[in-house]
Amino acid sequence: MREVTPPLHSGWTMVHPDEQTYPQLNKDPQFKPVDSIYENRLKQFTNTSGGYEDLQLPKFYVKGKVDNQKDENDLSKGYIQFTTYTTPNLSRPLFKEVIPDLLPEFKPARVGDSFGPGWSTHWFEIKAKVPDSWNKEKLVLLNWDAGNEGLVYDKNGLPLQALTGSSERTEFTIPPSWYESGKEFTFYIEMACNGMFGTGSGTYYTLGSVSLFIPNMDARNLYYDFWIMGDAARELSVSSGQKHKARELCNKIMNTFDPEDESTILKCREIAKSYLGKDIDSDAVFDDKTNQLPTQVYAVGNCHIDTAWLWPFAETKRKIVRSWITQIRIMENYPEYVFVASQAQQFKWLKTMHPDTFDEVLQKVHEGQFVPIGGSWVENDTNIPSGESLSRQFLLGQRFFQDNFGFKSDTFWLPDTFGYSSQIPQFCRLAEMPNFLTQKLSWNNINTFPENTFNWVAIDGSQVLCHMPPANTYTASAHFGDVKRSLQQHKNLYNDQHGLLLYGHGDGGGGPTTEMLEKLRRCRGLTNTVGSELPIVKVGENISSFYSKVRKGTDNGKSLPAWNGELYLEFHRGTYTSQAKVKYMMRTSELLLRDLEYVATVASIQSDSYVYPLDKITAIWEDVCLCQFHDVLPGSCIEIVYRDEVWPMLTKALANLRGLINEALEALGLKEKGLEALSLEESAKYDQVATLNTLPWDRKLIMPVPYEVSAKPLNAQGNLVYMESTKENPTILKPLSSKIKHPAAVSKIDDVHILENGKLKVSVDKNGVITSLYDLVNDREVVDLGGKNESGANQYVIFDDQPLSYGAWDTELYSLEKYKYVGGASKIEILEEGPLRSSLKIQHQISSTSTISTIISLDGLNSLDDVSFVAFECEVDWNEKYKFLKVEFPVSITADYASYETQFGLTKRPTHFNTSWDTAKFEVCSHKFADYSEYSYGVSVINDSKYGFAVHGNLMRLSLLRAPKYPDQTADIGKHHFKYALYPHKGSLGMDTVKTAWEFNSRSSTAIYEIGQFGIWSEASQLVKYEGDSNILLSNIKRGEDDADLKSNTKLAKKFSGHKTIVLRLYDALGGKGKGKITIGADIHQVFKVNILEEEKEEVEFDAKKNQFSIESRAFEISTYKVVLA
Ligand SMILES: [Zn+2]
Repeated sequence: MREVTPPLHSGWTMVHPDEQTYPQLNKDPQFKPVDSIYENRLKQFTNTSGGYEDLQLPKFYVKGKVDNQKDENDLSKGYIQFTTYTTPNLSRPLFKEVIPDLLPEFKPARVGDSFGPGWSTHWFEIKAKVPDSWNKEKLVLLNWDAGNEGLVYDKNGLPLQALTGSSERTEFTIPPSWYESGKEFTFYIEMACNGMFGTGSGTYYTLGSVSLFIPNMDARNLYYDFWIMGDAARELSVSSGQKHKARELCNKIMNTFDPEDESTILKCREIAKSYLGKDIDSDAVFDDKTNQLPTQVYAVGNCHIDTAWLWPFAETKRKIVRSWITQIRIMENYPEYVFVASQAQQFKWLKTMHPDTFDEVLQKVHEGQFVPIGGSWVENDTNIPSGESLSRQFLLGQRFFQDNFGFKSDTFWLPDTFGYSSQIPQFCRLAEMPNFLTQKLSWNNINTFPENTFNWVAIDGSQVLCHMPPANTYTASAHFGDVKRSLQQHKNLYNDQHGLLLYGHGDGGGGPTTEMLEKLRRCRGLTNTVGSELPIVKVGENISSFYSKVRKGTDNGKSLPAWNGELYLEFHRGTYTSQAKVKYMMRTSELLLRDLEYVATVASIQSDSYVYPLDKITAIWEDVCLCQFHDVLPGSCIEIVYRDEVWPMLTKALANLRGLINEALEALGLKEKGLEALSLEESAKYDQVATLNTLPWDRKLIMPVPYEVSAKPLNAQGNLVYMESTKENPTILKPLSSKIKHPAAVSKIDDVHILENGKLKVSVDKNGVITSLYDLVNDREVVDLGGKNESGANQYVIFDDQPLSYGAWDTELYSLEKYKYVGGASKIEILEEGPLRSSLKIQHQISSTSTISTIISLDGLNSLDDVSFVAFECEVDWNEKYKFLKVEFPVSITADYASYETQFGLTKRPTHFNTSWDTAKFEVCSHKFADYSEYSYGVSVINDSKYGFAVHGNLMRLSLLRAPKYPDQTADIGKHHFKYALYPHKGSLGMDTVKTAWEFNSRSSTAIYEIGQFGIWSEASQLVKYEGDSNILLSNIKRGEDDADLKSNTKLAKKFSGHKTIVLRLYDALGGKGKGKITIGADIHQVFKVNILEEEKEEVEFDAKKNQFSIESRAFEISTYKVVLA
């Protein structure tokens, strides 16, 4: 055994100083605190009700207060007096329209008065003074709470700050210059009788409190300190030492606080700072380098302002100024604060209505605190707008940004839109935006989306860097928990450890409050001081730098996972169908805009006297794009938005479009006459008629004529004429001079009506349903009655439609299981009997309150190679509650996937329910057609204004009408008119379907003209000619936005002085490489491939002799060319 010798150094025997004082005897036994009780106690400290408030911190919140209630019988004795004026007819006049002219009409008012009804406006003139003892106070606040939205103006009409009522934002800082002299001062408040989320039309609001007061800022700061420490005590994990330390210190603060001694507040704050750090009262807290750890969460302020939703556009215009000026006030006191705002339209409204506030915004944009973002005209829906519409969202948005701010946005900002089409990444890259932000997929009600930071890839292979803020909201309150979730819920931490936190009241506007900024300072102070169990948060970076940090850390995005195709929102599937009228008007507007730009381009090149009306076209596009806002076009707004704003706006747009198309055609010599007004003698001149085709391929068309022309062949009734154009000049359609070879006939055998044209044979039974559609050429039955639907095609089905919530937005899976087939026809009659068209008119009673009348028609053909389809034209009288009308086509097709037209391309979706991801797509969005094809044969369903569709098993199902009751009780009630067609075809999906869908949708090919008028048109219409692979389609022709000879509404530099330019948009419609040639009917000076902002990207060689250049396209590429004419 070895002897242990104590070491010789003194430590062995020395007693530590603590140990010297450590009592030998325990005379004061201490209990172990009970965690839950010590945690629950914390809320007592800041509660403003419950009985303890006079004994806890709230006792000191206010240092002094005066109001106008000193003498109820004599308002003049109060410190605040006010008078009010109600604007007539729910109008929303500007300050300058009310003050000073209408001041004599202002009447005295007092606290307790009520104001209304909903949507009314009340102006207040307020005269106030402070008690003499307050003159030297640095901070005097107005408290004003009427439970509704308000805006404070100075005496000159400059907006200063919003008040949102209901205890949310009820304080306004009185500028010291107003009260320092001790004299009375005057200011104004515009009261809007609505809350942040709209109002009821009969709602009245009580002016609950008005006062001036001096806040105790030390008490307020302690309140924020305690809030964050209390959250740490509640929300950190049980294994966290920081959690228990926070609880201990909070209890220590409560024990230190003395309600009889205000000075204890500062002692309490000192305790708080031992946990939160010494820098929490300034932005210096974000510069702390103590821990040297990288920032993990970037907090960015925003206030989502729905451009219309539970309020009209007219109120949004006021929400913008209220929200944004308030943010500028916060920026003045918080230098670290960065705020982003989207939607060029909103900036334009502000610039028009409040130019002074717009200048204040510009100042803060230059200082980097106010960051315009998004690059689109509005935060648009991306399911329903056409490809050209999406291009224009960016063209208008980015041009506004460049014109007014001097830069383009690099981020498409779309936090709240209801799903994202498979082409969005391509549009983004063509609009110079490599970044995309949303969070809406966190609303999925079936599957959890697996990514937060990833590459999102379009059908053409274009990608954007997408971030979905992990806190799953764009309206966070900047709570401790929001910061925590911004990393904790991040699903791509393997690749990247950054999250964005979007905070600020939103949807109805509002934005961050100073309280949120104070909380974020403390969250950061906490990690600086006690470590990083809470993610390290930073305020002061903008969105662009966030994305570039992600790129830097992920090998320029290459190490991030990729998601291909659409970001389908598993929610809000009813929005493809709700508010059918706005969808019909939108489709029509888009098609007429296309036609207008085409004919106006031709006219402006051909005629020296005609000027392309760029400013007018832009104004129409602005309104059309506005109506594509993500609650308007999807159909989720209140009634007044549609009735008072959207329908009138689009009605006017359509009238202007028709007028402008006629002006352009008149410049080309085509003047439509009121044919019915012609005398017999004059009408003889119209024996030779023609019409124009605005589509870039030759076509055949059976069109109505209002009188009997001698051109043959006509229909039996003499009301239709068969027109066709040639390959050489597809733009002029002339009547066929001979009889058509395959007339359409109708017959009746027993109870069955048969329509037949040599290619198709359609059997309609006594229920008015198609029991057989036989393709005579391909010897194939198209209708399959072997599945769930045993009755036939064009079977109307009425589904129960009672979603869990969100009436206008949602339709649920279980609705598919509760339905009734619309039964026997109440009447079937033969309407037309060939040879051009044969048709049946069928009446159905949908329910005791709704009816549908359908014309089923089949056209005669001049060649069996021509496209032949069965057309359906419906008139519906719709008066339902929570019902969904769809039409079914059971078809003899078997395939795993169906193709749905999307913007300039196709989205393929499963026709089975293998996985929950497949099931979730039980209702999807489709544009002009949906196609279900096998290798050898297929069926397309084409429509003129519908967007909801589904293909499963052997059923193709087009969604027609819904009847939700929220937020618009009257949604879709009334009369509807729409058309669709069933087109069976040999082989898989081909260009016949794409082109037939364009033709079926054409809105402007019904005007007929004297053939002699086509002289100029005949030449001019050959301006642009595409020859090449058939999958490439020339969709749009327009003049260049920056052409020097055109009047525009921007200050952007003109280009190519002395030249006119033509912009051509082409796309591959089916998904395959393509090559072709474009020939211009004028001398070419230069050709460029451009982006959708019409910025030149590369110069293209051309053949000067032929005025021709070659093009090449990737699968699903959207290509744009700018041709500079000599
Ligand atoms: Zn929204």
